[in-house]
Amino acid sequence: FMNLTKKLIEVRNILMSIDHEEGLKLPSIVVIGSQSSGKSSVLEAIVGHEFLPKGSNMVTRRPIELTLIHTPKSKEEYGEFPQLGLGKIHDFSHIQQTLRDLNLAVPESECVSNKPIELRIYSANVPDLTLIDLPGYIQINNKNQPETLKDKIVELCEQYIREPNIILAVCAADVDLANSEALKAGRKVDPLGLRTLGVITKMDLVEPEIGAAILRNSDYPLHLGYIGVVCKPPASIKNKKNITSALIRHEDQFFRSNYVYSQRGIQVGIGTLRKKLMEVLEEGMAKSLFSIVGAVQKELEESRYQFKVQYNDRRITAESYVAETIDSIKQNFKNFAYSFGKPQVRLEVRSMLEQKVMDLCAELYWTDNKIVDLPKAPTDELYWKYKLDMSSAALTKSGIGRTSTQLVVGVLMANMEKIALLEPLNNHPDISSKLLSLSNEILRNKFHTTSDQVENCVKPYKHEVECSEQEWTDGVKRTISLIEKELESCNRALQNIKDTVGKKKLRAAIKYVIDDAKRVQAQARDSGEGTVVDSGNETSTLTQVQSVVVNDIIEDNDSDRHRLHFNPKVIEKAIEAIFLRDRSMILKYRLAALKSRQCKSPENKQYCPEAFLNMVAEKLAYTAVMFIQVELLNEFFFQFPREVDNLLVYGMNKNQILLFAKENPKIRKHLELQEKKRKLEEVMEKLNYISRDASGWLGSANGS
Ligand code: GDP
Repeated sequence: FMNLTKKLIEVRNILMSIDHEEGLKLPSIVVIGSQSSGKSSVLEAIVGHEFLPKGSNMVTRRPIELTLIHTPKSKEEYGEFPQLGLGKIHDFSHIQQTLRDLNLAVPESECVSNKPIELRIYSANVPDLTLIDLPGYIQINNKNQPETLKDKIVELCEQYIREPNIILAVCAADVDLANSEALKAGRKVDPLGLRTLGVITKMDLVEPEIGAAILRNSDYPLHLGYIGVVCKPPASIKNKKNITSALIRHEDQFFRSNYVYSQRGIQVGIGTLRKKLMEVLEEGMAKSLFSIVGAVQKELEESRYQFKVQYNDRRITAESYVAETIDSIKQNFKNFAYSFGKPQVRLEVRSMLEQKVMDLCAELYWTDNKIVDLPKAPTDELYWKYKLDMSSAALTKSGIGRTSTQLVVGVLMANMEKIALLEPLNNHPDISSKLLSLSNEILRNKFHTTSDQVENCVKPYKHEVECSEQEWTDGVKRTISLIEKELESCNRALQNIKDTVGKKKLRAAIKYVIDDAKRVQAQARDSGEGTVVDSGNETSTLTQVQSVVVNDIIEDNDSDRHRLHFNPKVIEKAIEAIFLRDRSMILKYRLAALKSRQCKSPENKQYCPEAFLNMVAEKLAYTAVMFIQVELLNEFFFQFPREVDNLLVYGMNKNQILLFAKENPKIRKHLELQEKKRKLEEVMEKLNYISRDASGWLGSANGS
C-alpha cells in the first residue's frame, strides 16, 4: 500500500507542475484551523522537526504544499524547495528561515497570496503524505491588517478544501467546538463529514471527562472522527534531533494516566493521527485513481491533437530556437550592411554638406546687399575674392571629420534600432538593448580614429581646392537643381502664408509694414541718428525693414497708433512674407547667374560662389566617405556578427537559453505544449503501472 501512495504523490506533483486544472487532481490533506489552534505544532509533530515560522503576527501568508517522502533506507533527513533550486537543506532552522522569508515577501498590502510554496521533506521518519498548510483563520482584524484580510483567508481556504482534498480541521480542546472556524468551513463543502478529519489539540488543557466528550463527537459528528493530541514539546528536547518519538512518549504518559482515553471509540495520539492520515490519503488516492486515469488520458489525447494541429508534430528545443534566432539576426544585419555601401553613405554625407553650403550661401551671400551687383563686379575685386575664401574656409574648417563620422554613426545606429524592432529581436528586449549598446560601443571605439583620419585627409582642401572642368560643370549642375529646390520651397511657404492670411489682407499688412518702417527710418534720419539706408535699392531696404518693424512691435505694443487694427500675428506673417519674397527674388537672380555664360568656367568661380562651394563639398564628401568606409563601416560590419555570437552562442547557460526562448510567446506556447505532452505521457505510464499493480488491492477495497 505504501508504494501506491508514494507513486501517486509523485504523479500528483507532476500533474501540479502542468497546471492546476480541475479533474487533474489527486487528493492532498489540507490543514485548516484558527490562529493558535496548534496547527503548526501538529504539522511539526508529524514531520518530527520544528520547521514552520512562528511569531505573534500572522506568519503564514502563502499556502505551503508540503510533500513528505518516506526514505526508509536513508539516514539523511532534509528538505528541498523545488521552486528555488537551493538543493538539499539539512538544517531545519534554515528551512524555517526560508519559509519566513518567502512569507514576508508577500507585500503587506496583499496580506495573503494564493501562490503556494512547495516544500519536500525526505526522511526515514516521515510517512508518505502530502499536506497543505494554510494561513490560520483570524478572529478579529488587527489594527494594521486591512478589513478584507479575514475574507481573503476564508476565500483562500475555500479554494483548497474542495474535492477531492481531505480536510484536516484543527481545533483546540479549550475552545468550544461550536466556535471552530475550521469545522464551519469544512461543513460548508463536506456537510456529512465524509472527507473531514477533526484534530483536537491541547488535550492537556481540559479535564479528561470534557476531553473524552469532545472526542466522542456526538454534537458535530464526522465520518472520519476526531483524534485528540498533545503537541507541546517538553522543553528538554529542543535540539536538532527528530522530536516525534519524544513527543509521543510525553503524550502517551498523559493519555495513559487518564483511563477515559482508553475507552472504545476514542482515538488519541500523534501516532494514531499519522496512521489515520496515511490511510485516509491512500483511500482518497485509490478512489481518485480511476477518474484521474480517465482525465489524464483525455488531457493527453487533447495535447497530442493540439501538437499535431498547431505544430504538425514538429518538436523544437530552446537551443534550436536560439540557433535560428542567431541566423535571422545575422541575415537581417547582412541585408542592411549590403544596402549601406559607399554610395549610400556618400549620399548621406553629401546631403549634409549641401545643407551646410546652402546655409553658408544664405548667411554670407544672399543677405548681402551687394549681391545683385556681383555679376558686374570687376574680376579682381577683393571684396568678393575675400568672401569666397572665407566661405570656403568656413566649409573646410567646420570639423568635417567629426560631423561626417557622427552622421554615419547616427545613421548606423538608427538602422540598428530598426533591426532591433524586427522579428526575432523584437521578442527579446534584453538582448536587443545589449546588442544596441554593443554596437554603440564598437562605433564609439572607432569614432576618434575615424574622425581624425578624415580630418587629416581633408587638410589639403583647407589651403586650396583645385578642380577640373568636369568637376566644375557637375558642381554647377547640382547647384542649379539645389537652388531650384530652395526656390520652390520658398515659394511654397509664401503661398502658404497667402492662403492662411488671405491675399488682400496680406497685401495691406505688407504695405503697412513697409510704410511704417520707412516712417521710422525717416524719423531716425531727421533726428540725425540711426542707420542710413542705401536708398534706391529695394532689396536692401526690405531686409532692413524686418528688424526695424519687429523691434517696433515689441517695444511699442501699447501705443495707440493706427496699426492696431492689425493682429500682431498677421504682422508677423507679413514680415515673413516680405522675407520670403525677398529671398525668392535673390534666388531667381542667382539661378540666372549660375545658368549664364559667366559660370561655365571654373576661372570665374568668384561669380558663382554657390557652385564653387558645392564642388568643395563634393570633394570633402568623397574623401570623408573613403576613410569612414575603411575605418568605421568595415570594422563594424565585421565585428557585429561576432558580438551576436558572443552573446547568444557563448554567453548563455542552459537555463538562460530556456528563458530566452520563452520570451518569444509563440515559442513559449510551443515549448509548453510539448512539455505538457511529455509530462502527461510520463504520468500515463506511471498510472498504467500503478493500476496494474494495485488492481488486486483495489478490488478488495471496493468490496469492503
Ligand atoms: P497555530 O497558530 O495554529 O499554528 O498554533 P501553534 O502550533 O503555533 O500553537 C499555538 C500555541 O499553542 C503555542 O504556544 C503552542 O506551544 C501551544 N500548543 C500547541 N499544542 C499544544 C498542546 O497540545 N498543549 C498545550 N498546552 N499547548 C499547545
